[in-house]
Amino acid sequence: MVNFYPSATMTVNNSMFPQGSTQGEIVLRDEFHRFIFGDADNPPRGNWIILRRANTTQLCSCINPQTLEKSAGCTKCSKEGYVFYDEIFKTYYSQAMVRQFDPRSQEVLADISILNPDIRKYYFEYTVRPTDKDLIVMLRHDDEGNLVRPIIKESIYDITRVVDPRDINGRIAYYECHTEKEEI
Ligand SMILES: [Zn+2]
Repeated sequence: MVNFYPSATMTVNNSMFPQGSTQGEIVLRDEFHRFIFGDADNPPRGNWIILRRANTTQLCSCINPQTLEKSAGCTKCSKEGYVFYDEIFKTYYSQAMVRQFDPRSQEVLADISILNPDIRKYYFEYTVRPTDKDLIVMLRHDDEGNLVRPIIKESIYDITRVVDPRDINGRIAYYECHTEKEEI
């Protein structure tokens, strides 16, 4: 059992959103955009990924129309039973520090945290609107951070939870997706 994302040990902190203001207010949407895409003074920090979006209103062709049961071996819908469609977005991710548990007592070993590359938080702009039914497909980038073409898919992360932090006016500032790596 692991403790996901203990806040004290997350690798991303508020320095992700440096000071910037419009009429005295930090505009998180703008800061986030600048963080991902860069500007004249800052390099872009984001990676391109495919967001494999679930269309839960459209059943996959593997569904039996009589029983509504899905076919176990279906590769089109990853056994989820509905159709997916792909869109490409730029995102930023952080890896989680995961606290270790004593397997016998089940107590947290307070001093020990390890970086778990299979558990990540992905951040998206407020326009993206990901859901916990969607998947994230990692794409290969070269050493300079440019997307390799033609596209090479490297790994898949399953979104388990979506958080939508709000700005001072209650608008969604960005999306934070908690994910786990999928076994392929
Ligand atoms: Zn299917």
